[in-house]
Amino acid sequence: MEWIIVTVIVILAALIACILWAMQLSKRSFQCKSCSKEFKVKWNKLLFAIHSDEYYEIKCPFCGNKGCIEKDAKES
Ligand SMILES: [Zn+2]
Repeated sequence: MEWIIVTVIVILAALIACILWAMQLSKRSFQCKSCSKEFKVKWNKLLFAIHSDEYYEIKCPFCGNKGCIEKDAKES
């Protein structure tokens, strides 16, 4: 039965890592590929967003287009 506990811990650790990553990412701005407007995204929306490099498949709140580019974060 020990493998169940190990599996649960591994899954939980991966989940926490994903949430922390998404929370860090939510501090950044994203630019819509369609209307070029910049906006911020909640971390829970980033958690399940498909992405490759700086491209993120998240919905633009202005025009509803799916597909945004991550802007270089200048933390303040
Ligand atoms: Zn847009």
